[in-house]
Amino acid sequence: MFKKLSYIIGLIFFGLFAFLIFRNANLNTFIDSIENRTFDLRQSILINQGAKKANEDIVIVAIDDATYEYILDNYGEWPLPRDIYAKMINYLEMQSPRAIAFDLMFVKSLKSKNQADEALVKMFEKYNNVFASMNFDNQSNDLRTAPDIPEKFAINIDNKSKIDFSELTFTNCRTIIEGLLNATSNIGIINVSRSDDGILRKMPFVVKYKDKYYPQLALKVGLNYLGETQKEFEIDKYGNFKIADRKIFLDRDGSAILNWYGPAGTYTYIPMYQLLKAVEGADTALNYNFTNKIVYFGTTASSLFDIKTVPAGKIYPGVEVQATYVNNFIDNNFIRKVNKGYTITLSILLALLIASVVTRVNSAFTASLTSFSTYFIYLLISYYAMKYENLWLDIVYPLIFSIFAFTCAYIMKYLVKSRDFEQQYKLATTDGLTELFNHRYFQEQIRMQVENSKRYSTNFSLIIIDIDFFKRFNDNFGHQSGDAVLRQVAQTLKKNVRATDIVCRYGGEEMSIILPNTDKELAISTAQKIRERVAHKNFKLSNGKDANVTISLGVSTFPYDGDDAPTIIESADKRLYEAKNSGRNRVGGV
Ligand code: GH3
Ligand code: MG
Ligand code: MG
Repeated sequence: MFKKLSYIIGLIFFGLFAFLIFRNANLNTFIDSIENRTFDLRQSILINQGAKKANEDIVIVAIDDATYEYILDNYGEWPLPRDIYAKMINYLEMQSPRAIAFDLMFVKSLKSKNQADEALVKMFEKYNNVFASMNFDNQSNDLRTAPDIPEKFAINIDNKSKIDFSELTFTNCRTIIEGLLNATSNIGIINVSRSDDGILRKMPFVVKYKDKYYPQLALKVGLNYLGETQKEFEIDKYGNFKIADRKIFLDRDGSAILNWYGPAGTYTYIPMYQLLKAVEGADTALNYNFTNKIVYFGTTASSLFDIKTVPAGKIYPGVEVQATYVNNFIDNNFIRKVNKGYTITLSILLALLIASVVTRVNSAFTASLTSFSTYFIYLLISYYAMKYENLWLDIVYPLIFSIFAFTCAYIMKYLVKSRDFEQQYKLATTDGLTELFNHRYFQEQIRMQVENSKRYSTNFSLIIIDIDFFKRFNDNFGHQSGDAVLRQVAQTLKKNVRATDIVCRYGGEEMSIILPNTDKELAISTAQKIRERVAHKNFKLSNGKDANVTISLGVSTFPYDGDDAPTIIESADKRLYEAKNSGRNRVGGV
């Protein structure tokens, strides 16, 4: 009964704990930030193991520090005049690359002439595999008016999920070259999103601007790679962005979680100055074949400040984030984060499993080992889920729940056990009929009293009580009534002694009282008092009638009547016998 009740209370307590944990927004943010770190850790381990192979068709033309210097030396200033980009596009197109994408904004050079813009625009008109980027921000409208973006850049989304894109809605667009807007429909956004801790783990899949959805540059490049021209999309109710035969999971804020292939430099880097040299007709021909490659232009120079911190490393160029994104798109291996409902269910199941192990297993060592192994197995599952299924199973919530369940189960178990122990102790030391201490307990206690009194040089007394003519009483009123009287005599004894006195059933209808720190005089007066109370009491019988009984008592005191337990008992017994012999209903030997 108590066991069941305590488990029910445990479960209710546990439910309350679960509710509080999952409902507290601040706590959630805190736990999620730790969870994010475990994601980074899992990714690093997978990277170290070489679990994923980056796509070798993706190559980065990097505006690195050397290129930056080269440009300053040869063109007099940064940015590079736009017609030079045109020349590079033209050069690359001769080798038929799959796509050329610019993760940069073609910032206008002071020396750039109008013809320079025209030259660049022409390249976009000429080749339909060249991609430019645009960037939205929330700069205030009194600085500049938000430009209208031609509708051809937007896609339509039928959003059936709970994602509301409010965090990914922007009011302004950084101006891009007018001509480009007309020349191509290959312009994608390059906005990024960071977690609270500043680490870039995911990328907006699309962003909203003036009520329309604009896709990521990488998404456009990826679609181009698949040969897709789809413009109507659906996000299902689970947050899956559906493209052709794939479902790309979007996090609650509308971002796709990236799966990392390696640290910075995983993709082939061609410093742009090498390309510039080749383009400008220098002797040094570029020893690289761009045929069928996806060529990504972007800055990696530390002075140009497009460096992010990602799970794969602290210093990671923005352009390689784009490359990773395209790679995830091609490999269809974006991370899918298990939704909160599953996490709650999993955490609770794990906790119940651990709690049931702890309550069932007796050895603390086995219980701890089993609980630890259970969680460890879960950890392994979460690791392999990420490795083979690109699935992000939460591990922090289950850990908190496991620890909580383990602790709770232990406390419950301890409570139940100590309660069991108490019950068993009581059973072992009390007499069932009178609820007085039993004979065994009496023997223990009297021996202890002798020891204590010897050690501290104190005294104690013993009273032995026997009901008079009880055999006859039983014969007259029946055994049932006899039992009732026994119980009531016991209660009377208890009521008339100190709390420190020990009242026992000595055997049959005989009872005994150990009175610590009590001399003979006080013991005898106590015995007299008890005798009177019993003699004057009306005992209720089982048939509802009243009856009277008397008792005879024998008193002995340590150390005067003996210096060990048997002698003390014998002495009290002798006095009781005297009381019986001299007429009963009296205290013997007085
Ligand atoms: P005396 O005055 O000499 O003590 O006479 P007595 O009849 O009480 O004699 P004795 O103490 O030898 O008798 C013990 C009797 O107590 C025997 C039995 O009938 C009764 N008795 C012992 N234990 C119990 C019990 O648990 N319940 C009941 N109803 N009677 C008991
Ligand atoms: Mg007797
Ligand atoms: Mg008797």
